[in-house]
Amino acid sequence: MTVSIGLLFPDLLGTYGDSGNAAILAARLRWRGIDSEVLTVRSGDPVPVGCQIYVVGGGEDLPQSQAARQLGAGRDGGPLRQAVDAGAVVLAVCAGQQILGLTFTGPDGRPAPGVGLLDCTTVPGAGARMVGEVVVEPDDDLGLPVLTGYENHAGVTRLGPGARPVGRVRAGSGNGGGSGVDGVRVGKVFGTYLHGPVLARNPALADLLLSWAVGALDPLDDRESEDLRAERLRAVAPARRRRRSGVRWRSGVRWRSGVRWQ
Ligand code: GLN
Repeated sequence: MTVSIGLLFPDLLGTYGDSGNAAILAARLRWRGIDSEVLTVRSGDPVPVGCQIYVVGGGEDLPQSQAARQLGAGRDGGPLRQAVDAGAVVLAVCAGQQILGLTFTGPDGRPAPGVGLLDCTTVPGAGARMVGEVVVEPDDDLGLPVLTGYENHAGVTRLGPGARPVGRVRAGSGNGGGSGVDGVRVGKVFGTYLHGPVLARNPALADLLLSWAVGALDPLDDRESEDLRAERLRAVAPARRRRRSGVRWRSGVRWRSGVRWQ
C-alpha cells in the first residue's frame, strides 16, 4: 500500500511553513514501514482526486482566494469535494480552513465563496490581528492531548450547526471573536488556526489523521517531540500565570510542573 498525500498549493499557501505537515505525515508512515508519496500540487496544476490525505496551509488574502478558486469555490463539485466524498482526509490550516468554509473574506474585504466542505464562515475580526502562541484543549471525542501551535490571522471564523470545533482555547484566540474555541471539523475534514507546523508540534494529531486514512497504527517513540512540546507549553505558561486572575479555568484543567496540561 502506498498512501498518497496531496500537498495543495505550497506556492500560494506556504507562508507559515505548513507544508511541513505533509513531511510529518510521510515520515510517521515511513517510520512504521508504510510507503507514501507526497504529491505537490502547485498553483495552476490539476488537483488529483485520488489522494488519501490532503494538506492545505495558511497564506495571505490574495493567494488564498486564488487557491479557493482552483479548489472549486463557488461551483458545485470541485476536486477536493470529490476526494472528500470518496473518503479522503483533509487537514486545513488557517487560510486553508477559511477557504474550505462557506464564505471567507476576499482580498477586497468582501465575502467570497468558499469550497463548502466546512460549515463555517470567516469575517474580518474587529480587533487587532491575532498573533502568538495558542494552546487548545481538544474535545474529548478526539482523544488527543493538549494541542500547541501559533497563530497569525485577521479573520474570525464562526461555526455553523453542521460543524464542531477542535477544542477550547486555553491561550491565544483560535477562531477568535470571543468564541473561545479553535478549529472546524466536519467528518474527516479537520480545520485549525494552529501553525507550527501543527503536526510537528502535535504528533498525536498526525497519527489521528493517519488512522482515519489507513486504520490503526503502531505507536512510535515520540520523546523528542515531547521535549519540543514541553518547551512550547512552558513558553505560554508564564504569561498565563500572570493573567490567571482574568482566566476562567474549567475544573480539572490545571498547569502541572510547568510542563503538561491535564
Ligand atoms: N489571510 C488570512 C487571515 O489573515 C489567513 C492568514 C493565515 O493563513 N495565517 O485571516
